[in-house]
Amino acid sequence: MGKRKLVLREISDPRVLAAMEAVPRERFVPAQYAEDAYGDHPLPIGYGQTISQPYIVALMTQLLELKGHEKVLEVGAGSGYQAAILSLLAHEVYTVERIPQLAEKARQRLRELGYHNVYIRVGDGYEGWPEHAPYDAIIVTCAAEEIPPPLVEQLADGGRLVIPVGESGWSQRLMFIRKRGTELEQREVAGVVFVPLVRGVARPPENAGGRDEP
Ligand code: SAH
Repeated sequence: MGKRKLVLREISDPRVLAAMEAVPRERFVPAQYAEDAYGDHPLPIGYGQTISQPYIVALMTQLLELKGHEKVLEVGAGSGYQAAILSLLAHEVYTVERIPQLAEKARQRLRELGYHNVYIRVGDGYEGWPEHAPYDAIIVTCAAEEIPPPLVEQLADGGRLVIPVGESGWSQRLMFIRKRGTELEQREVAGVVFVPLVRGVARPPENAGGRDEP
């Protein structure tokens, strides 16, 4: 622990670099991985899910072009790490997680660490979080087979959507989409590997013993 050497390659947005420096990544991974929290790779966070490699977190965050006033939606709260990074760079962060136990843990962690502008809900992030739309930026941290239409719908004019698209395995592409009126500007950024976006909220036995959204 304390070896806070992040490998961030060509990431150049100073605000993103500062946020990556500021958030204690070891607090978002299971205790047995704390030593390795700053390594250049993803780590397991339980329930078959993973926290992304720091570089990918930084890359996706940089693509959102946050200046500080934005309302951001994340799909896949997981550990809450990406949400913590976003909370330092935007005004409000809304994040949806389908596994209730992960959502609850992330909520506790974010509260303890003082990230008070993050709101977590248990739900199917494919549907977004319509009550708070439109969003200036949307980040999806699980791979979708297609770009979910509700997310495009909930994106503000000029808004950015960053999402891994493709089947599970090695064929996923990280896509950047910018909404301009009724047009979508789209480009492929990189090849990536993410856990799949799964429709619906996790229920027993998958979440046996867990509790639901408070
Ligand atoms: N951003 C997270 C990484 C999460 S891994 C972090 O910083 O730790 C991807 C997460 O997406 C998992 O927690 C998984 O449960 C969640 N997920 C998958 N499909 C989902 C869906 N339809 N809606 C909401 N969350 C989903």
